[in-house]
Amino acid sequence: MDLFNLTAHELTAKIKNKEVTSKEVTENVFKRIEAVEPKVKAYVTLLKDKALAQAAEVDAKIAAGKEAGLLAGIPIAIKDNMNIKGTKCTCSSKILNNFISPYNATIIDLLSAEGAVFTGKTNMDEFAMGSSTETSFFGKTFNPWNLQAIPGGSSGGSAATMAADEAIMALGSDTGGSIRQPASCCGIVGLKPTYGRVSRFGLVAFASSLDQIGPLTKDVTDAALLMNVIAKYDPKDSTSANILAPDYLKSLQNNVKGMKIGIPKEYFVEGMDKEVEKSVREAIKLLEKLGAQIIEISLPNTEYCLAVYYILAPSEASANLARYDGVKYGYRTPDANDLLEQYEKTRGEGFGPEVKRRIMLGTYALSSGYYDAYYLKAQKVRTMIKNDFEEAFKKVDVIITPTAPSAAFKIGEKMDDPMQMYLSDIFTISVNLAGIPAMSLPCGFTSQKMPIGLQVMAKHFNEEAIFRAAYTYEQNTNWHKEKPRL
Ligand code: GLN
Repeated sequence: MDLFNLTAHELTAKIKNKEVTSKEVTENVFKRIEAVEPKVKAYVTLLKDKALAQAAEVDAKIAAGKEAGLLAGIPIAIKDNMNIKGTKCTCSSKILNNFISPYNATIIDLLSAEGAVFTGKTNMDEFAMGSSTETSFFGKTFNPWNLQAIPGGSSGGSAATMAADEAIMALGSDTGGSIRQPASCCGIVGLKPTYGRVSRFGLVAFASSLDQIGPLTKDVTDAALLMNVIAKYDPKDSTSANILAPDYLKSLQNNVKGMKIGIPKEYFVEGMDKEVEKSVREAIKLLEKLGAQIIEISLPNTEYCLAVYYILAPSEASANLARYDGVKYGYRTPDANDLLEQYEKTRGEGFGPEVKRRIMLGTYALSSGYYDAYYLKAQKVRTMIKNDFEEAFKKVDVIITPTAPSAAFKIGEKMDDPMQMYLSDIFTISVNLAGIPAMSLPCGFTSQKMPIGLQVMAKHFNEEAIFRAAYTYEQNTNWHKEKPRL
């Protein structure tokens, strides 16, 4: 029997009832990885031996009648920007290719405490900068729905593991869309939690005021289950919110009666992809039929989101990436005559072109004489964008938009045109700027049979409203049951 194509909530029940062992599940997932990974290339590091040892531990606990945890024996894939002690953590960059994590990220400790099994580390855009997983130092990841297409990014490896059943659950990170856009491209569920909801201790920083860790899963229930494990206050992360998280499984109600859903007119514009628009509009109609009230709203500063993001995120990145200097850890150039040359060559040889572009943009925006004109101005507009959402959420419970302007594009299509690549996140970036939570879930396919994503946003710390709307939609559709043929 195949187990790799099941969800975590289906498998935890089977493991606890002793219908199957975690060892069987883990072996089955690795059998699947061995079969499809040569085509998909979702992982940069596989942890088969460690995973089997973790599975054996869980099985021993269950056999002894002990409590084995909420995710007992469930194989989970981790994006390669989160630290697992004793394992390579590269951020898909040459500059960290030799880096072994000396400690665990908090989310890794939380998952381990609940019995999770780590399958490996997944491919990503270098330092999470990108929307296609093409900037990885280790090569591209391929979309399981069409191997000529990108899986989205930057958490493209994690998203691909879900579509290709190369793990049962996955974690990604989202700074401007990097969980939701790949989820949309791969036809799976991806949630960016509220800023501060999930600890980022042990996540390699890209843009610290925007970064957030979150689940990529095969259905909405698994996203809630995973959130129950990772949404915890962490004193080791100064931005972690000391607010008790609810039991998200309780928000999984198949009922949107009376729920107010806002549709922002700025997200449905002239020239948008017709197939995406059609699927999203049909999803809205279905929710209306199921009892939700649809309200047209406006988020007037939407047009500035991309510009603001591409000032703030590179500025923060330029500061965060200053630490990769070849002195403390990571790659060091083999031939330098003095310290300055060592810095220059290490960074010149260690970073790829997109990372360098961001460092230059950020350094420029922060430099004296330009700071007020760019960084400070962008911060002010960021507040206006946040205020737009606060106003909107006085009137509605959730906001629905497309996740991405199009389905997954062809590999190579946007690599020479950074601006086109940046536009992939036009609908997701506002959420990070405002710090609110948002989910992408499958809502249809294009005529080419490529998945389309629906984005559901809510106000700060109201993931519950997202879960309710998303679960209702999922329970009344079958998109999440479709699998690519590999
Ligand atoms: N694609 C966006 C960028 O390149 C967002 C990336 C992310 O969320 N990590 O910056």
